[in-house]
Amino acid sequence: MSETTANAKTVGREIGGVPIYLDDVCKTYPSGKGAAVENLTMDIPAGEIVVLVGPSGCGKTTSMRMINRLIEPTSGKIMIDGVDALTLDDVKLRRTIGYVIQQIGLFPHLSIAQNVALVPKMLKMDKKHIESKVEEMLNVVGLPPGEYADRYPRQLSGGQQQRVGVARALAADPPVMLMDEPFGAVDPITRAKLQDQFLEVQKTLGKTIVFVTHDFDEAIKMGDRIAVLRAGSKIAQYGTPSEILTNPADDFVSGFIGSGVTFKRLNLERIQDITLRPVADAEGSDSIVESTASLNAALDTMLGEGNDALRVMEGDKAIGSIHLSDVMNRVKEMRDDREVASHAAGSVHE
Ligand code: ADP
Ligand code: MG
Repeated sequence: MSETTANAKTVGREIGGVPIYLDDVCKTYPSGKGAAVENLTMDIPAGEIVVLVGPSGCGKTTSMRMINRLIEPTSGKIMIDGVDALTLDDVKLRRTIGYVIQQIGLFPHLSIAQNVALVPKMLKMDKKHIESKVEEMLNVVGLPPGEYADRYPRQLSGGQQQRVGVARALAADPPVMLMDEPFGAVDPITRAKLQDQFLEVQKTLGKTIVFVTHDFDEAIKMGDRIAVLRAGSKIAQYGTPSEILTNPADDFVSGFIGSGVTFKRLNLERIQDITLRPVADAEGSDSIVESTASLNAALDTMLGEGNDALRVMEGDKAIGSIHLSDVMNRVKEMRDDREVASHAAGSVHE
């Protein structure tokens, strides 16, 4: 089984984050029946997006909020960059951890710039530095400050407000970001744009990101690593998207993945990761695709535009071409990979 697809996401990425280690962490709410989180042990590598995915109520939010101590663990230890988080001042700790949630929580009476400047101000960064940080972060999330800095939240769409939420969490340059279903409240097209844009941002920032979702497709798209959780935040499987898709640990994980596994893998593989044909092979086709797009996107373009061949672009330069049969060959190879992996594991998951 090849790991090239998962690694392609992290190769060459800066690392601006720090590692997190959850050591046998438990949480029992005083009013709750049984533990919300039971003996969770998990290594979260620096600079990666680790997704916690699982059904509603399984303990994702509780697990995440123990990292910035919005919820105190009942027992166990959380190490952030080798330091026991429970020994740190909780307010200071939270200021060094970016936090993005679905109900954005922008202050309606503050301008966009003022909202983004909140944490840097609390951290008493100097004024000039705050101003340039606010501008930089608004640019990073695609909201040019000249146009948006002085607006108020109500003058922005839901998707734009969510971008401000991300900019605000990034403004203090925290090594760790916690994102709890951050794109859950927007329509699917806006969500896809926010996801793409956030992945672009992460390429250069390399934060350590814990990302919670109940949507497996989102987990596959966003995660360098995914922890599939069952009730009590028990880890059913922890691995790269392609490990989990290729070799789900049990029926619970397979059920979560659902059908169409091979096509989901096509989403993971970039056009630039396969051997391209010469540009001339797409002579006569006016369909194009970006080299960074997924094989699934290539397939969509081929089917949508009725062209079997596409020119592959890097910026405005064609660097090669791709044919429908190339995508189909990859599908076949992926299926073969899965068969080998299932036989090796002594079981067949279909
Ligand atoms: P998820 O984010 O995966 O939906 P949560 O972490 O919110 O799950 O909840 C895990 C479990 O803990 C659920 O059974 C939920 O009802 C319970 N729970 C969450 N918050 C509280 C609370 N403040 N008091 C009591 N029980 C809670
Ligand atoms: Mg939740």
